[in-house]
Amino acid sequence: MNYYSTNGKAPLATLQKAVVKGLAEDKGLYMPQSIKPLPQSFFDKIHDLTFQEIAYQVADCFFGEDVEADALRRIVNDTLSFDVPLVKVSDPKGEGQKGAIYSLELFHGPTLAFKDVGARFMARLLRYFAPASGGKKVNVLVATSGDTGSAVANGFLGVEGIHVYVLYPKGKVSPIQECQFTTLGQNITAIEVDGVFDDCQALVKSAFIDKDLTDHMQLTSANSINVARFLPQSFYYFYAYAQLKKLGLADNVVACVPSGNFGNLCSALFGKRMGLPVKRFIAANNENDVFYYYLMTGSYYPKRSMQTIANAMDVGDPSNFARIYDLYGRSHEAICADISGATYTDEQIAYTMRQCLCETGYQLDPHGACGYRALQEGLCEGEVGFFLETAHPAKFKQVVDEICDTDIEIPARLQAFMQGKKQSVGMSKNFADFKAYLLKQQ
Ligand SMILES: *Cc1c(COP(=O)(O)O)cnc(C)c1O
Repeated sequence: MNYYSTNGKAPLATLQKAVVKGLAEDKGLYMPQSIKPLPQSFFDKIHDLTFQEIAYQVADCFFGEDVEADALRRIVNDTLSFDVPLVKVSDPKGEGQKGAIYSLELFHGPTLAFKDVGARFMARLLRYFAPASGGKKVNVLVATSGDTGSAVANGFLGVEGIHVYVLYPKGKVSPIQECQFTTLGQNITAIEVDGVFDDCQALVKSAFIDKDLTDHMQLTSANSINVARFLPQSFYYFYAYAQLKKLGLADNVVACVPSGNFGNLCSALFGKRMGLPVKRFIAANNENDVFYYYLMTGSYYPKRSMQTIANAMDVGDPSNFARIYDLYGRSHEAICADISGATYTDEQIAYTMRQCLCETGYQLDPHGACGYRALQEGLCEGEVGFFLETAHPAKFKQVVDEICDTDIEIPARLQAFMQGKKQSVGMSKNFADFKAYLLKQQ
């Protein structure tokens, strides 16, 4: 299958090129030329399939033409070595199960973040393609405000032929998050930038377009602009649907997605295009409301990101908007027919976390709280909703404990990271310094 650029000015690319390059030459995002629907027989028996089997069938539609079946099955099985349970949180009407709200807990992976699946899948697919790219080492650059860095670093740890550089703002990521990518060693280098997240992002972007650097080394991105990172996230939605179907609740399903760069929601929309019977979607945002504003007005105005307590969603110009826009033929009307929006202040997020804990006993993290609240407010008669709980509350322990007056336990997996020794390379926010550093690397 070939991939085209959302900017329409770059040549078509193979899957290999799209994955190894990340971004198209014209700075557009790669899109598959066609989206294969899954057969009705798949949906008829989906509730009897395992997560791995469902994911393989979905992956086969996207990648089956370009990756051998055995290899693809191995990539899927290695990626999904953990479960994604659907947990009932509340039943607003208290009668029967319709109108119930479920949490799809995406935080049971190695770094307790939903990005684990995309990162692990991408690492393995890149490894699969690496020999074909001339045996040259592939260097992954990733800018992070916390969550992406840990998922990518752990997803790529020990993968041969790939080196990862994680750029993060000094003093601006939580201690738990910092441990998750600075203590690993091996093929992971943490770069501590004397600046803010936007500076890290700017350094990465400049590197991709610097000819001296791209001649010197093969560079790619592991942010959700990469097709190998965002597409596998669609597995979640098929699996959630399967679990609801098992409960006899698959008729009027609403999926609510806490969103930042919109990779996750975008993968869900691809799922719908493949036939997934989800009735509609809600994009839940914090105060960074660019997409919400677009839904309301039809105008897209990127802004500077604002800092919130749901900081993995602090994005002022979501990169996957270009994909959603393209997928719906640039029609505001078509987008609004499938997706509605919601936006919440920190106060509303905090209130929702307390209220949910008090009324249902369920501990939300600030990101999931946006999703839960949007369903609470937006679910209609006869609908069943699930929201994606994108991070384990312990990852945001300080904020969560302060809001909910709790002392939540840090899972053993997180504690283990905190025992390692921090190793990082200090860097100024000047591109010349970063470039000189990379030019010295192999
Ligand atoms: C990355 C992230 C999000 C946003 O996901 P997008 O795919 O960028 O929309 C939401 N919550 C958490 C915890 C995240 O790490």
